[in-house]
Formats: sequence, C-alpha cells, structure tokens
Amino acid sequence: MDYREELEPVLGDDKLARKPAEDNENRGKYNGRRIANDLNSIYSTDLLPARDGEEATKQFLQELVNILLAYICKSMKPGSKVLDFHHPHQLKEGLEGFSLDLPDRPENLEQLLVDCQDTLKYGVKTGHPRFFNQLSSGLDIVGLAGEWLTSTANTNLITYEISPVFLLMEEVLLQKMCGIIGWSEEEGDGVFSPGGTMSNLYSVLLARFHRFPEVKTKGMNGLPRLVLFTSEHSHYSVKSSAAVLGIGIDNIILVKCDERGKMLPAELESSIASAKAKGLVPFYVNATAGTTVYGAFDPLNSIADICARHGLWMHVDAAWGGGLLLSSRHRGKLQGIERASSVTWNPHKMMGVPLQCSAILVKKKGLLQSCNQLNAEYLFQPDKQYDVSYDTGDKSIQCGRHVDVFKLWLMWKAKGSEGFGAQVNHCLENAEYLYCKIKSRPDFELVFNSKPEHSNVCFWYLPHSLRSMSPGPERDRRLHAVAPKIKARMMEGGQTMVGYQPLGDKANFFRCVFSNPATQREDVDFLLNEIARLGHDL
Ligand SMILES: *Cc1c(COP(=O)(O)O)cnc(C)c1O
Repeated sequence: MDYREELEPVLGDDKLARKPAEDNENRGKYNGRRIANDLNSIYSTDLLPARDGEEATKQFLQELVNILLAYICKSMKPGSKVLDFHHPHQLKEGLEGFSLDLPDRPENLEQLLVDCQDTLKYGVKTGHPRFFNQLSSGLDIVGLAGEWLTSTANTNLITYEISPVFLLMEEVLLQKMCGIIGWSEEEGDGVFSPGGTMSNLYSVLLARFHRFPEVKTKGMNGLPRLVLFTSEHSHYSVKSSAAVLGIGIDNIILVKCDERGKMLPAELESSIASAKAKGLVPFYVNATAGTTVYGAFDPLNSIADICARHGLWMHVDAAWGGGLLLSSRHRGKLQGIERASSVTWNPHKMMGVPLQCSAILVKKKGLLQSCNQLNAEYLFQPDKQYDVSYDTGDKSIQCGRHVDVFKLWLMWKAKGSEGFGAQVNHCLENAEYLYCKIKSRPDFELVFNSKPEHSNVCFWYLPHSLRSMSPGPERDRRLHAVAPKIKARMMEGGQTMVGYQPLGDKANFFRCVFSNPATQREDVDFLLNEIARLGHDL
C-alpha cells in the first residue's frame, strides 16, 4: 500500500495531495505521487546526501516526519490497536511487500519510506494508553524531540572536545539526582549507562574494587571467596553481574521476603552470619526500591543498619522505584536511600523518558574514575589545552557512549521536578484505581491483598469454571493455564497488552504496571473488561 493512504485521515488531504497514477510508471505497487522529481534521481543510485541535495534532504525528512506524526497520533487514540501481531515466520516470509531481505542494488527513497511505515505498522505501540506490558511505556513528545536532536548531533559521550554541551548536561543531571537522593555536595558521582542491568553491574564492580582495589590489575586470584546478598524478588541483573564479574552465581545468597515481596532484615542478618561462619566473605548487599513484579520496597533503613554493622556496600536498585523520589507524596517509601553507597535509577521507566536512560549514582566521589579509568592516550591526552577534568568518559566501562542525557534534560526543563512528581502521582492513582476495581469484582482476585505501594498490580482472572473451586493444587493447575491463553487471544486481538508470570509457588498471574501518563481510568476499565471478555469461556 502507498504510505500516504494511512497518513491522509490524520494529516488531511491538503498535505498529501495525490497525483495521478501516471507519475510512477516504474513502481506498479505504490501508486502515489513521487516525493520529488529530483529526489529519487539524486538518491536512487547513491543514497548518500549529495552536497547540493539540500532540497531533496528536506523533502525526504519532511515525508518521514509525516509518517512518524501519523504513527504518533494514532498511538494516542485509545480505540486504535496496540499491535498488529504476526508470527516470526510471517514477518520473515514478507508481508504485503514488506521484506526484511537486504538487496544488492540500492532501493529508491520512496521504497524506504514505505519500509519505514511498515516497520512501525508491524511493531508494538508502546506509547498507547492501553499498553501495560512493560515498565517502560508512553511516548513523551518532548523526550522524543530530545532523542531526535541527539541523533542529529550524532556524537559520543567520551571527551569534552567532542561533547562539550552534553558532558556538562550529564554533570548537571547527576548532581541533581544525587541531591534528590539526599547526598551532600561533597558526595555524589555517577555516569549514565545503557540500562539498569548495566548500572547494577557497575555497583557490584565498584563494591568489589572499593574493598579489594588490587582486583583491577590482579584479577580474582588470591581473593577470598566473595559472596553478595540480594532478595529473592530482586531483578535478575544482580545474578548476571555476579556471572559477568567472575564472582559466580553460586556466590549469591538470596534473602527471603515477606508475602508482600519485601526483604526480611532478620533473614539478611542471619544469612550474613551463616556465610561468615562458613568462611565466606560478604561484601555487597542489594536492596530493591520497587521490585519488578510486585513493586515492593525493601526496608532501606533496616538494611542500611545491617550493612553499617558489617561494613558492607549497600546498593539500592531503584531502577523502577527511583521516579517516586520526585513525588512528595510517595518519596517516603524510599526512606534511607541516602545511606546507600550506590543507587541505580532508570529515568526510562517511571519518569517516562524514551529508552534508554539509566544512571548509576555513587556516593563516594572519584571511585568510578579510579575503578574504571584506563587513560587511553588517543582520547584522554593529559596535555589538552582545556580543563581535562571534564573528559569524564573514562569513568565508564564503555569507550563510545550514546548520549542519553539530552532528552532527560529537555524533559526536566519542560516539566520541572514538580511535573515529574505529578506524573508519578497520576500513575500510582491509576494503580490504586485498578486495585479497587479488582477488589470489587468477583471474577478477579488479587495476588496479595494490600494497597499497591508502586504502580504494580498483580492479579488473577477467574473464569466461571474456577470461581467455585476450593483452593488447592487442582485449582492452581487450572489457574496456571488461564493467563497464557488469555494473553494469546489478547495478542491476536491487539487491543491491549499486559504481561503475566508465575512467581515462587504462585500460578501464572497478570502484572499490570503504569508508567504512561496518557493512561486514564477508562483504559483501566477496558483492560479488565477485555480480559474477562477473552477468558470467560475458559
Ligand atoms: C527493569 C529493572 C532493572 C533492569 O533495567 P534495564 O534498564 O531493563 O536493564 C533492574 N532492576 C529493577 C528492579 C528493574 O525493574
């Protein structure tokens, strides 16, 4: 289909006046007007912009912006589909002229625009108000503008000489975030990383280096057997860090949680004692502020007391919960976070910043630099004629680093800290609304019966056939099969998306999360009604 056909209802006819079909004698399939007579001739054999291709460049990008705008406007409409699901083999075989195969001969720009449109068409509209599947959702328009600008600038966050503005913006944001955590001006350092998993990896790396600085040059040989502690509800990236850093997954001690998913401090205390009794060397505790599935907040002050008593590095994984620090109504849930040695905070989750945007924040200044710097001489020349303390790229374990800070900086300008706070409050109100709705309906059941602390709401749908059954293994077995069946139907229908998982001994349950400020109560109602509609006959 011609890419303009989908645009017209959104953008209006005047923008995309169609020309008669004789305009494209060579293209058969796409019977729209040409982008510009000269555009394809300039680009068709050589897709690099010609020096004098300014007009063509403008026209091509203008057309692309039209496609993106049409997609964005459609994503914002609750009645439109969230996804147009196809199986992998269907996409691989090619759909309606959309082929993933790469050609030997260059294709023309008209075709590229069609490909852009198809790419969006068969993808998932994560900015849709009825997309509840992931912790990152929504499409912030200012953030998007920031991402566009970032790609246009196309630079690398390594040294001041190639990223003067962005490096200073990174510093401003890190200071702001450290201040919000509650660290003093003498404290606080950090770096933006490619996601919470990486930020958590940094935390274990730093904790180990802090205790055993020689590990940077000598490796793990000669070190005692190190162990680290994290709760059974914590994110799997803590495991991955131990594996990547050569500590080993077997040297992670999983601490028990209460039924709400919060780490039990007494269990932490006794796990540390029994590890020490076995001759193991504890060095690190991960506390989670906002667990991925339940949205639980570990008791940070009690954990900090234990870490202080045993001289352990305390990391707070606030990848999901960090955004609550910006809400005066909810920040109390992270009380004690200022006592952490390091914090992971993902603005690309609760704050709605476009992917990716995550920070590792470190209380002790200079530690990141001494742990990671390698002074590559072709980048970090010490005799540069400017203040080289701004060549902060060597704090990172990457060389080249994507600029993730600009979109966050721009959004912060647009909303102010208060705007972010209001956004967080709105998402948590949606969660509370969903919780109340579920409580009032006989066809749904909560996984745990207390008001959500974060925006996660975990629940089962009970088809008629299960409602009268008494609790037990047979009911669990049947309940376990309900969510996957509903999910499959949901994907086919494409009207909404929500995730499910089992946890511990709990049968598959739905987890709804809110981080998209565009979501309203009617969308929450829609989700429950849609689940009931899809699952009533099971
Ligand atoms: C999402 C999440 C992570 C991982 O963050 P990514 O950016 O997806 O790598 C880590 N910890 C918690 C608690 C999370 O919810």
